[in-house]
Amino acid sequence: MTRELAARLGEDGIDVVRVVFPDLLGTDRGRDVLVQHLPAVTQRGLSFCRAVYNTTPGGKTAENGGVLDAGLPDVIVVPDLDTLLPIPWEPGVAWCIGDAVSPADERPVDESPRQVLRRALEIFETTGLTPVVGPELEYFLCEPDEDRPNGWRPYCDEPGNVYATGRRGDSDGHLLRTLRTLSSAGLQTTGGNHEYAGGQFEINLVHSPAMDAADRAFRFKTSVKELARREGRLATFMAKPFNDGGGSGFHLHLSCHEKDGRNAFQAAGTSHGLSDEARWAIGGILKHAPALAALLNPTVNSYKRFGPDSLAPWLIDWGLDNRSAMLRVPAERGETTRLELRLGDASANPYLGIAGLLAATYLGIRDRIEPPRPSAGYGYDPSKAPTLPATLPDALAYLEEDTAMVEVLGKDFVRSYVDFKWEEVARFQRYVTDWEFTEYAYHL
Ligand code: GLU
Ligand code: MG
Ligand code: MG
Repeated sequence: MTRELAARLGEDGIDVVRVVFPDLLGTDRGRDVLVQHLPAVTQRGLSFCRAVYNTTPGGKTAENGGVLDAGLPDVIVVPDLDTLLPIPWEPGVAWCIGDAVSPADERPVDESPRQVLRRALEIFETTGLTPVVGPELEYFLCEPDEDRPNGWRPYCDEPGNVYATGRRGDSDGHLLRTLRTLSSAGLQTTGGNHEYAGGQFEINLVHSPAMDAADRAFRFKTSVKELARREGRLATFMAKPFNDGGGSGFHLHLSCHEKDGRNAFQAAGTSHGLSDEARWAIGGILKHAPALAALLNPTVNSYKRFGPDSLAPWLIDWGLDNRSAMLRVPAERGETTRLELRLGDASANPYLGIAGLLAATYLGIRDRIEPPRPSAGYGYDPSKAPTLPATLPDALAYLEEDTAMVEVLGKDFVRSYVDFKWEEVARFQRYVTDWEFTEYAYHL
């Protein structure tokens, strides 16, 4: 079977298969394999140092995991050939996503984000419903600039170009080029637009079953970053890269199908045209939002995106077609009835963020959690709803204490994830920033 596939790839001019897998941050790791070795690789998998799951955003190996103590053992990555796609900008190369398993017993490793999602999905499906997810991702494109402290400035400096089309705010047609290239790469983009800040764009992906949506969001981020690098630019999905302007969101649209394919969130003639399941889903997402933030807002920088008047959320609330709320119910009803969770920022690991959303939704439906009344009007009034966690340490503590969420996501995964993230927090807490020097050094 794999031999035939390898031969067919060869005939199509593919001589290398890139096997990638997401680390805890959702960034791609992997190895390029010559196509004649694909049958062996499919059978035995590829081995990597397990420290890959302990590599911090700063690039160092975190010291808190058991990986060092265990002598840096292997993790095996088995390619999922159903995900094989040619890479149009890398002639001769196709890529597929792999699943990480332990060499001893071939069981999925706790830190595998795909496994965390698979587990959440299996639990979710005990409700008899199948979730459908539509991801939207925002990012900043940057140009090198030696005069800036970090060496980069936004690709376009003028703000106020939201929904501007053509070359306004996009001097060399980045958006159109990216949209077409990613569509030809099989990532099923639907469309894109210029965002509020200069150099900020949004691209939307077709809604689909949760694992497929996560796989495409993962590949999307990898591809956008790769394409920018090839032009000497930087595309960043960090939550809030600049002090001026807003941050980048990872909005998730969620609907659910009944077994007969009907949209389970719709119910004509009920309050707001929503079914019990939709209402309970809203209740679950609101109740578990503080814990969910640890996955959907995973960096110390993420919490600088939240705030009043930001179009990012600040309060734990929901609203009917209300973009200032954390959870928006878009106006469409019938088969397109859905929720839009606006909590996540673009730096989230798509697998973990979607797993968290499914976990909170499942718990809402299982526990029949009734939501409060929807927020009306411009929803940044803190007297009306609780605020989101203000820092990553707060969100990590909420996640650890939310036993129902931990149960669905897996205790061992949550332990590894929280330890890994605490390492990042500790490094940040020790670091003296430019702001502190400017604020204090001359006066104190
Ligand atoms: N950039 C906003 C966010 O961080 C969203 C803006 C929009 O609604 O497109 O979520
Ligand atoms: Mg947007
Ligand atoms: Mg949106």
